[in-house]
Amino acid sequence: MEDNIELVAQWLRQSTMTVAFTGAGISTESGIPDFRSPGGVWAKYQPVYFDSFLSDADARLEYWRQKAEAHTEIARAEANDAHRVLAKWEANGHLHGVISQNIDGLHQLAGSHRVLELHGTARQVKCLDCGMIYEADQLVDEFRRSGSVPLCAECGGRLKHATISFGQSLPEEVLSEATAWCEGCQLLLAMGSSLQVTPAANLPPLAKQTGARVVIINRDTTALDEMADVVIRGSLARILVKIDDRMTG
Ligand code: NAD
Ligand code: ZN
Repeated sequence: MEDNIELVAQWLRQSTMTVAFTGAGISTESGIPDFRSPGGVWAKYQPVYFDSFLSDADARLEYWRQKAEAHTEIARAEANDAHRVLAKWEANGHLHGVISQNIDGLHQLAGSHRVLELHGTARQVKCLDCGMIYEADQLVDEFRRSGSVPLCAECGGRLKHATISFGQSLPEEVLSEATAWCEGCQLLLAMGSSLQVTPAANLPPLAKQTGARVVIINRDTTALDEMADVVIRGSLARILVKIDDRMTG
């Protein structure tokens, strides 16, 4: 493992364009359970599909109930060392940016500026009818107080968290920018993702096909370990701090 850490540090120093690709595993050390953890909010409930959200007021109520519960976890979470190391690498020119599947906003909280959120953000709420954006905090509080689904103050339309639900397509501009990053990078670090959720999980293979080295850092095996140049297993926060030590030491 130490050899691989040294090797990745060396690749990072050499690469003129490195991209990070992150999933739920980068935020577990901030107290947000990943997709497969027993007891996690995502595991406890039946997800509300986008079609039902659009057509059914009961589904909208169930959606808001689930999101209000998940909100507490996200709102009180703090960035961890893994998020911080990536922000530092962006600031000192070692990292082009982060493509994240996460909706928790912790990369930005740690100081990353160039972040592509493939699945949107739970920190905002968007009106599906007029596009108005609101801070989630305020509307979740309102929902908790009233027990009824808030409506858009501008147009009376349907308000939904600015995240991508099952059955909803990914934002075209974000996906095409992420695709361009993957095609242009020399090194892609895929971290904290089981690499099973497509189309997001198609991005690391795309980077590989277009000539990049791919490094996977994850606690468990992933669907794409076979195609990686190096796989490092363990806690992301610990591993990224170790790689960073080799960058500066
Ligand atoms: P996933 O749950 O499928 O996989 C997470 C991976 O991270 C696992 O393979 C696990 O071994 C690894 N992991 C967990 N903690 C780790 C740690 N401390 N160090 C290293 N590895 C660790 O997650 P995914 O691939 O991101 O897919 C889940 C989907 O659910 C995504 O689409 C995402 O949008 C959503 N989701 C987001 C959040 C969030 O925003 N924090 C949380 C849960 C789910
Ligand atoms: Zn509206």
